[in-house]
Amino acid sequence: IADDPDALVAKLTEIVDRLRVAPDRGKVADYIPELACIDPHQFGLSICLCDGTQMNFGDAETPFSIQSVSKAFTLAIALGRFGEGLWRRVGREPSSNAFNSVVDLELEKGKPRNPFVNAGAIVVTDEIMAGRAPRDALAEILWFVRTAAGDNAIYIDEALAKSEKVTGHRNWSLAHFLKSSGNLKHECDLSLGTYFHQCAIEMNCVQLARAGRFLAGLSAKDELVSTSHVRSINALMMTCGHYDGSGEFAYRVGFPGKSGVGGGIMAVVPGKASIAVWSPGLNEYGNSKLGTIALEELSLAAVWSVFSVN
Ligand code: GLN
Repeated sequence: IADDPDALVAKLTEIVDRLRVAPDRGKVADYIPELACIDPHQFGLSICLCDGTQMNFGDAETPFSIQSVSKAFTLAIALGRFGEGLWRRVGREPSSNAFNSVVDLELEKGKPRNPFVNAGAIVVTDEIMAGRAPRDALAEILWFVRTAAGDNAIYIDEALAKSEKVTGHRNWSLAHFLKSSGNLKHECDLSLGTYFHQCAIEMNCVQLARAGRFLAGLSAKDELVSTSHVRSINALMMTCGHYDGSGEFAYRVGFPGKSGVGGGIMAVVPGKASIAVWSPGLNEYGNSKLGTIALEELSLAAVWSVFSVN
């Protein structure tokens, strides 16, 4: 169905209509108070294809909190600014611990295993802040996302960022551990404040699918990010983008994706498609339960797993 737009629309319509009313939807993240009250009965999907077309399904225009999906954008910015030197501060290996685990940090003496676990993402944000005020770093992050999506209406939910700053004790502990290990350049409240704000970016699936085009190689040639950095980011999304559920995601879906606890996933089929899917209920790894199922079914139908040989 990948080369037949009508068949692709029919398949996605069938998937979305079924999953919109699926009974078993996973559990909404409740450790962030502002996310606990989101209605789990929502499902949106948007897909951008290499011919420039975009198709939207279900609640594709409802904004949601992108949370850790933002880590793919900050990694792109940090690689652009600092290149391979970034890897002195953060590793590139998957972790078998949860996204907010303190265990790896303890074992690896303050060097987070990868840029997508919380500790690693806090380091990446801290690096982006080097040599300027936090508000300027945050402005660049928002500028990057808006430019990638081609939409200046994308905004940050201040109330959500504040609520995480007050209640996110696990992230505070990670920041303090990083600081005590000499792997945080700024004060914890500055780096974390910026991190909580990037997580509080609100987008809908239509915007998020557009923002992922640079990773799929679908954007204009005056690239926002070099092709070598795109390759790096996609490799990390494949191996680490779903935390300790990354192996499962690679097995079932088979292309790179980055999830967030808001229930969003930005996924890319290199050279073919950029996909955003959103459903707030999460599976045991903190990744969208129905979003993963939708991507798995789409991947099978379109033969889009990078591991397929047919
Ligand atoms: N802001 C969230 C946190 O730091 C992001 C986590 C996620 O989306 N997995 O806990």
